[in-house]
Amino acid sequence: MSDLTGRVRGPLAPSTAVQRPLSIDDVEIHGGPLGRWQQINREASIPLGLEQMEKSGAAPNLRLAAGEGDGTFQGYRFQDSDLYKQLEAVAWEHCRHPDETYRSFVAESAALLSRAQRPDGYLNSHYQVVKPDQIFAELEYSHEMYCAGHLVQAAVAAARAGLGEDLLGVARRFADLLVRRFLVDGDDGIDGHAEVETALVELYRLTGERPYLELARKLIDNRGKGLIKSTGMGPLYAQDHLPVREAATPVGHAVRQLYLEAGVVDVAVETGDAGLLASSVRRWEDLVATKTSITGGHGSRHDGEAFGERYELPPDRAYNESCAAIASIHWNWRLLLATGHARYADLIERTLYNAFAASTSGDGTRFFYVNPLQRRADLFEDAYLGRRREWFACACCPPNIMRLVSSLGHYVATTGDEGVSVHQYVPGVIRAGGAVLDVETGYPWDGRVRFTVRSAPGGEWTLRLRVPAWSSTTTLTSDAGGPRELVPGADGYAAIRREWQAGDAVTLDLDLTPRIVRPHRRIDALRGCAAIERGPIVYCFEQIDQDTDLDDLALTPGAALRTVERDLPGIGRTVLVEADAVRLPPAPAHGLPYTTGTDAAPAARATATAVPYYQWDNRDGGVMRVWMPLA
Ligand SMILES: [Zn+2]
Repeated sequence: MSDLTGRVRGPLAPSTAVQRPLSIDDVEIHGGPLGRWQQINREASIPLGLEQMEKSGAAPNLRLAAGEGDGTFQGYRFQDSDLYKQLEAVAWEHCRHPDETYRSFVAESAALLSRAQRPDGYLNSHYQVVKPDQIFAELEYSHEMYCAGHLVQAAVAAARAGLGEDLLGVARRFADLLVRRFLVDGDDGIDGHAEVETALVELYRLTGERPYLELARKLIDNRGKGLIKSTGMGPLYAQDHLPVREAATPVGHAVRQLYLEAGVVDVAVETGDAGLLASSVRRWEDLVATKTSITGGHGSRHDGEAFGERYELPPDRAYNESCAAIASIHWNWRLLLATGHARYADLIERTLYNAFAASTSGDGTRFFYVNPLQRRADLFEDAYLGRRREWFACACCPPNIMRLVSSLGHYVATTGDEGVSVHQYVPGVIRAGGAVLDVETGYPWDGRVRFTVRSAPGGEWTLRLRVPAWSSTTTLTSDAGGPRELVPGADGYAAIRREWQAGDAVTLDLDLTPRIVRPHRRIDALRGCAAIERGPIVYCFEQIDQDTDLDDLALTPGAALRTVERDLPGIGRTVLVEADAVRLPPAPAHGLPYTTGTDAAPAARATATAVPYYQWDNRDGGVMRVWMPLA
């Protein structure tokens, strides 16, 4: 199959990989949840984000840095990064739907940034306007390199999307300053918030300029040497407790660790550093086994927005920042390309349909920063965190969500030496390595996925289809016969090799029987509970769907599960799961909540009704729980 890496129009273009990514516009998504998210992203979220670039202070701050207008700096020291992520979202959206509004937003932003940029390449509105004497002097919390990283990613996106190279010019001038100071001149500083590492590697991939890669490697190698001065949060917070190669488990601020891992895999791949890659895989395995919510979310603590200890996974206090879900998808995508193993695509799917998708309201105009697995009647950190909001003072999540949604086509399929691999099942068209595949499916509500070859390059090649770990029985039906049970290879994919002709078709049937899932016995916070999954979708229970108090319901062990399709206000047509349950006797309301007695009164039979977790909080904002006690 032909190598597409030279012209990838998408976030990632590794120069070497087991699997090679496609361009965003090589994959058309026609409907299904991902198609719906792309539609509302374009119609509702991105317009809202563009408006917020003025309202939130992001653009006005840069005008101050350019010496234009008056007023005072607004927001956080990393406010510039909101604009950079918004630019990236717009650039990827431009790949799917070229739009003059996007072109002018990118051009005007590039011009403003160029005017704000110092002659030496430095660019950060907070430090230029508020603390010019502290430039690069407080890297432990300044976010200067973090912001530079988002600028670089936006510029790479604009260049690959055909939106000109003005933004790239600004980004390169800043990146060149970083190279001069932190690589050539020997300053050993590193940013408290990782992000610039992965961005510098992508800039290297775009430009071929090796110093960007070498700086990224140096920044990674410098972690764990105590070079980050005190953040007041301890060395784990910014992953400065151990050299990267020695760290066995993800720690500290979840988003920082996960962005760092993206950069670690990028550097490992581009430098052929197998030991560095192995260290990232080791941490991934520990993360998955001990620090991952059922939704794929990461971060168990509000304090420090941090991972907890192993098996510390409370449902009600789970932090699961939307940005952590995004960063996890970035990391897993890099590991998938580097290794070709389906376990990374499985985790991308779990995270995408659950932890990530829950971040956004059904109409695309409200966002969660924190994604807990339980909401009590009175548990609100404050109004700020309780329900989705239009924007945030610290608005890292909304534009981050937008840039991932507009680039979703990049994560669906890849090419490799043997043929085409499909990682995520979406209705639409895949153009890969000279082949064109039509995909028809009602996934994830329906487990049948039909691939029809519209055109194919000559000769034999392999169609590799991911067999999700959750599908207990998977069959394939083809013109050659079937259905036959598919047994995936050690890499988690079923391989179908033949000389494909136009009109050839195969149908994959995945097992969507709803299932009861139990937690690992060491997760104390979930002991005695169970959750429901169907296909890649994790379910939750909202009070509004129950005919009794949700907190008095318990699932019957071995509960019978029934799927029901229904139209719900604020959600639309969806698939619910009903489970046999019992209504427990009313709990005592007074005295200590501990007793030597047992519940004496008999429990009454009841039904508990679950909706997809990602669709929660689109109605009345009431009580919700993913994990239900077992009777
Ligand atoms: Zn965030």
